[in-house]
Amino acid sequence: MYSYPNQIKKLINEISKFPGVGPKMAERITLYLMKNYQNAADELKNAIDGIKDIKICKICFNISEEDICLICSDKTRNKNIVCIVESPEDVVTIEKTEKFNGVYHILYGLINPINEIMPEDLKIRELIERLNADDEIHEAILALNHTVEGDTTSLYIYKEIKKIKNNIKITRLAKGLPTGADIKYADEITLGQAILERKEI
Ligand SMILES: [Zn+2]
Repeated sequence: MYSYPNQIKKLINEISKFPGVGPKMAERITLYLMKNYQNAADELKNAIDGIKDIKICKICFNISEEDICLICSDKTRNKNIVCIVESPEDVVTIEKTEKFNGVYHILYGLINPINEIMPEDLKIRELIERLNADDEIHEAILALNHTVEGDTTSLYIYKEIKKIKNNIKITRLAKGLPTGADIKYADEITLGQAILERKEI
């Protein structure tokens, strides 16, 4: 049976590993790259090479061009409030609301025992160490999805913070977000409102 040459199959296989991209889509992208090799493929290769230089912020773990990200190094940001999020995508989504001027801490996932994602796989220990070391911080916002994993992670972090400090206010986003909703897909107005109406827990 006829199939593509191995080099093409290899690229289709690599692209099909991307989140949300199935084999059929990977095939279309590969053929597009082949057809437009001189422009599109070269540009793509340069862009991919460029992300090798991207770093992780030493304070909040956001993706950054420097050791300390633009948000952490911005003197106009309120360092008293830390917003705890699942992923760098959430930072971008929350920034779009323009309703938050504090700093962030990125966990890189949520606790999910079924998928064997445990607290030690996330940046939770680093968060607790950061809160412990930094007396400036007096509020931690748990901006995690209102899902089973988001609730489990929020409760776990809440208990860990309480173990080390009693004077940090711990809040969660208002329930204006539908139950089970993903912060990434929330519209800016709803999310902005959920930040402003956050509730202490
Ligand atoms: Zn940072």
